[in-house]
Amino acid sequence: MASITLNNIVKKYDDGFPAVNNVSLDIADGEFVILVGPSGCGKSTLLRMIVGLEDITSGELQIDGTRMNEAAPKDRNLAMVFQNYALYPHLTVYENIAFPLRLAKSKSGDSTGGANGGSNGGSRGRSLGGAGGGSVDDRVRKAAEMLELTEHLERKPANLSGGQRQRVAMGRAIVRQADAFLFDEPLSNLDAKLRGQMRSEIAQLQRRLGVTSVYVTHDQTEAMTLGDRVAVLKKGELQQVASPRELYEQPVNLFVAGFIGSPSMNFLPATLKASAEGTGGAGGAGGSGGAVLSSPIGDIPISAEKAAVAKGHELLMIGLRPEFFEDAQLVDEAKKGKGAVFTAELSHLEWLGHEQYGYIEFEPDEKVRRLLADLAAEMDADELRPQVVTTLSAESRVRPGQPTDLWVDTSRIHIFDPETGENLT
Ligand code: ATP
Repeated sequence: MASITLNNIVKKYDDGFPAVNNVSLDIADGEFVILVGPSGCGKSTLLRMIVGLEDITSGELQIDGTRMNEAAPKDRNLAMVFQNYALYPHLTVYENIAFPLRLAKSKSGDSTGGANGGSNGGSRGRSLGGAGGGSVDDRVRKAAEMLELTEHLERKPANLSGGQRQRVAMGRAIVRQADAFLFDEPLSNLDAKLRGQMRSEIAQLQRRLGVTSVYVTHDQTEAMTLGDRVAVLKKGELQQVASPRELYEQPVNLFVAGFIGSPSMNFLPATLKASAEGTGGAGGAGGSGGAVLSSPIGDIPISAEKAAVAKGHELLMIGLRPEFFEDAQLVDEAKKGKGAVFTAELSHLEWLGHEQYGYIEFEPDEKVRRLLADLAAEMDADELRPQVVTTLSAESRVRPGQPTDLWVDTSRIHIFDPETGENLT
């Protein structure tokens, strides 16, 4: 296994536009890192540069501390697992898994390459999870055992489920004793249920084998559930690299905040004011010391600490995750004190069984409309609707079209600078 280091990596295609712009990232030996971002953000390009399928325009790629920019793909000893699995339909599972070993043997002939597929003279390519060493037969059978494919070894790919095919593809990577696995959206052809299953299989297998892995996806759920760390890319630039929890709880900017989480974080333009007592809008405690954020859904009291970061900005963008809200009637007194209660009218409700989504729509003035359009462009979204999505408990009996008391957890409000997108909280 190996560490992978990217130092100021740039990729410019013929049009000269940087598809990957100055990306630096250290991937530790055995770590599982996810590259995530919307279509066209450069994640596949980055992966292809690591594996050697694409030239690096500038910057340095190191594998285990050695510069690899100029190394041929086969000398990098990395195993790529593709979306379509790239299995041979006429070969059995056994033959498919053995293929890289047989290929390497027949190619190496009188050379010193040995049978580790990406042979590099044996300088790297250490044994992986016990599947290395021994005859081709031994190695294939060990890999099959690890992947619970032993009873399917004589089948052809057409007679396997999508998940089993995926495991065969990984079996090939395992027998090759690759230093790292690189996954390029391997689950995007599967239906939702199988995707969920395979997601957890890949996560468990990666942990069991402890092999360095880089995984590309545009699906934030996959990113959040699979990785030790997640690298979020936007237009070729790295936005944040952090654990899934940190990304969710402390996104550095509007883009990451909006990209991570489903349903997405709600964004509302707001201004900071001193609260005028008894003016309606959001009420309740909040420990505000007198400051409120005036927003299209009402005035939201905030703590002195949050007011301090908001100070000096004429206009702010506030971020509220749907789960920051609750039907006020279901919130106990102790919790109520940590947030604020305000009255809103839900335009409609979606009942999902275990919870329900309540929608608050608001009428944006011209300035707010412009801000939302700018934000949509920033988020790479078609549009941002003037609404707030709230996640309410399944037992709530709130009804749309009536004034409803909602509680909002003001302690978790994010405050962004709308100019730079930076999270100020
Ligand atoms: P997707 O999720 O859609 O696969 P991605 O994040 O993997 O997207 P890339 O495929 O890396 O994005 O593409 C990044 C940018 O580089 C895009 O703007 C794309 O159009 C451009 N690009 C990719 N491959 C080439 C190429 N061979 N020649 C020119 N431009 C390219």
